[in-house]
Amino acid sequence: DALNQSLSELRGISVSFEFFPPKTEAMENTLWRSVERLAPLEPAYMSVTYGANSGERDRTHDVVKRIQTETGIAAAPHLTCVDASPDELRSIAKDYWNSGIRRIVALRGDLPDSSHKPDLYASDLVALLKGVADFDISVAAYPEKHPEAPNAQFDLLNLKRKAEAGADQAITQFFFDIEVFLRFRDRAAAAGIELDIVPGILPVTNYQTLLRFAEFTNVHVPNWLHHMYEGLDKDDQTTRNLMGANIAMDMVKVLAKEGIRDFHFYTLNRCELSYAICRMLGLQENNR
Ligand code: FAD
Repeated sequence: DALNQSLSELRGISVSFEFFPPKTEAMENTLWRSVERLAPLEPAYMSVTYGANSGERDRTHDVVKRIQTETGIAAAPHLTCVDASPDELRSIAKDYWNSGIRRIVALRGDLPDSSHKPDLYASDLVALLKGVADFDISVAAYPEKHPEAPNAQFDLLNLKRKAEAGADQAITQFFFDIEVFLRFRDRAAAAGIELDIVPGILPVTNYQTLLRFAEFTNVHVPNWLHHMYEGLDKDDQTTRNLMGANIAMDMVKVLAKEGIRDFHFYTLNRCELSYAICRMLGLQENNR
């Protein structure tokens, strides 16, 4: 109760929502319904992913432009550097700036194969973007270490390089173990990283999708979570949504109590859980 009481008194909560470009008409409808539902909560921004090596940057661009035009909320394209030359990246960045985009989520992107040595890392992309214009730049951070990094300290120093190159905030990979996130935040502070480290929250609506994501990102799925979802694959979606919402709500409550004020939601283009969690955090429509 004390926790709920203090939640209602929270001030300065700021959220952002992540979407991906839809591939079918049905998915397109789902996306725009979600954007419309979440926009009145006045998130700091809405971001749109771009699959590295997919060659579909235009689709990200189109969604970003439409979000910004139709909702007036700042929209941020994700931009990867693993599949473009520095000149191409500068030209894409100029285009974005000229069309009113001020925020970018700057990433390296996954390598096409593990023997591939990239020309540019995300820290290089941040420096390149800052050289084009004064974008507000978010970068990725990995509380459980990026799968390629030889050790956690190496990966932390990489985050420090991204900060020194001019990044404004870091969004974490999703996680379920809050202690891991809090220790990561402490280690980042101890390493002199002054970035705001924003937890990436994945409200789970589909356990199988979660397992796939967890496998290629090396994110630990705790036993209690497996236990919760086991055998429920064909159960009513409402049951699964209730569980997913509950897990995420517990997480944001504890994080808010630990002083976190910014939250990034991996919506997977669905709005229901993110909307409910934000309301629980005290956000109201058009009430900033
Ligand atoms: P980097 O920060 O460059 O790090 C990549 C790896 O290289 C790390 O292991 C790092 O420690 C290591 N490294 C860094 N510098 C060096 C160096 N000089 N020498 C050797 N090793 C080095 N992917 C997409 O394709 N599209 C998206 O839209 C997208 N959005 C994302 C959003 C978020 C919030 C997150 C957390 C991830 C996202 N990803 C996306 C996934 C991301 O592209 C991959 O995790 C990718 O493998 C690493 O990207 P990065 O920006 O973290 O890379």
